[in-house]
Amino acid sequence: MKRYDLIVIGGGSGGVRAARVAATHGAKVALAEESRIGGTCVIRGCVPKKLMVLASRVGMDLEDGRGFGWTVDAARFSWPDLKANVDTELHRLERAYAAALDLAAVHVETSRAELLGGGYVKLCSTGEEIWGERILIATGATPINDDDLIGRSLCATSDDFFNWPLQPRRVLVQGAGYIALELACLLARLGSEVNVVFRADHVLRGFDQELREHLQGELTAAGIRLLPRATLTGVRRDGQALRATLSDASVITADAVLRAIGRRPNTRGLGLARAGVTTDHRHAIVVDEDFQTSARGIYAVGDVGNRVQLTPMAIREGHLFAEIAFAGHTRSALPSLVPTAVFTTPELGTVGETEEEAVARHGQVDVYAIQFRPMKAALSGRTGKCLMKLIARRADDRILGAHLVGPDAAEMIQLLGVAITMGARKADLDATLAVHPTGAEEWVTLRTPTRRLGQSEAA
Ligand code: FAD
Ligand code: NDP
Repeated sequence: MKRYDLIVIGGGSGGVRAARVAATHGAKVALAEESRIGGTCVIRGCVPKKLMVLASRVGMDLEDGRGFGWTVDAARFSWPDLKANVDTELHRLERAYAAALDLAAVHVETSRAELLGGGYVKLCSTGEEIWGERILIATGATPINDDDLIGRSLCATSDDFFNWPLQPRRVLVQGAGYIALELACLLARLGSEVNVVFRADHVLRGFDQELREHLQGELTAAGIRLLPRATLTGVRRDGQALRATLSDASVITADAVLRAIGRRPNTRGLGLARAGVTTDHRHAIVVDEDFQTSARGIYAVGDVGNRVQLTPMAIREGHLFAEIAFAGHTRSALPSLVPTAVFTTPELGTVGETEEEAVARHGQVDVYAIQFRPMKAALSGRTGKCLMKLIARRADDRILGAHLVGPDAAEMIQLLGVAITMGARKADLDATLAVHPTGAEEWVTLRTPTRRLGQSEAA
């Protein structure tokens, strides 16, 4: 019986970080991964997605080039070439992650693992049982496609998308969250005809309403056909094509139907009940601030838990877990602000409270918003506009939220996240000298509130 200080189940963002940090602090660590080291982010998420988003923007740059005096003859895009190059990069990253684990002396088992209770874990590939003083569950999440939709086996998820050998000419996407919009956008920018069906009035439920409406307009202008207030009721094969029926009885013919309706934590068949680990109504493992589950000695980090499903959060959780467990750190709070971006084209970036949340929580808030054409559009001739908005609490000028749609939104929101995490006030941005000519300078030149919301002092 092999015995470890820590057994990590899952070699994705959270599990790899936790295993490496724990081993660096002297722990004897084993990590079991049933698929490829790197997990969702590296193999079938953030990394291949962003590379494909970048590919989709090259075509736009070529078109924009005309206004800047360039002539590009006979430009053609090859999906198989892009896929081959992306796959090569993913293999490189996978090897780099494995090498980092090796360097830290983490013992890696390529196997599914399941909990047996009492600190025991079964490695399903061999049937071997190992024992850990502590066990960390970092098994991530999986696209949901197991409901009662007629013809769901004909539909693809994001996992399938990254394995498509050829680009489908016509795609129907279901959902209007991060994945639906990112994949819809990159497919459309690469030339597919894309329909997006979603049940709400606007895309990206939970985001700032003005941003949602603005992005919706930009996506429509990009040639994506948005079908709000509807849902998919069935899919059937018709020769080479698929025919999808919607709740309004309309029928859409497509070469692929891509479902992106959320991701379920990977807790099925893990032996959680046997080990006494509690899950919530979403099948997520319930943890406390120290990542402790309901079972002593068993912890969970990342998408399998009941927090946000983002790579930086999984990494931070894995890191904090290992420091608390093996470096004697006392509890260290997770960041409450979550800067995040949706990699549509144009991008969307957001941090802090939406206008709606800010008004509900603080009453009196000032909103500074601006729309403008990016400088590049002067010569490229594109018609899209950037939207930038800041929300400040009137009582003390504290910035509560920053939101934008436009080029480089993700890069900008990362840096605004620093300022807002440090407690920036609107006056701090006013005091900052602009960098000219940039889009980002608008953040420090927004002088007059566009809207003063909430009751006035006199009321
Ligand atoms: P994962 O990375 O999913 O790792 C879990 C690992 O556990 C997997 O490798 C799995 O094979 C393994 N496993 C599961 N069960 C077992 C078992 N029983 N035994 C052994 N191994 C097991 N986030 C961002 O911040 N930015 C983005 O741009 C972004 N883009 C995304 C795009 C897509 C298409 C998707 C799907 C996700 C994206 N995400 C993004 C989310 C991000 O990928 C996840 O939040 C992150 O990967 C979670 O890390 P994790 O360690 O919790 O889980
Ligand atoms: P999201 O939660 O972002 O979006 C799910 C979408 O599916 C919503 O539009 C939702 O609609 C819809 N939906 C949910 N259930 C149903 C249903 N039964 N029928 C019809 N529509 C339904 O999930 P994703 O799958 O897009 O992504 C999962 C997570 O991965 C994200 O939340 C994010 O944390 C992470 N991610 C992050 C990225 C990034 O950082 N750039 C990129 C990709 C993923 P409604 O609004 O009506 O509920």
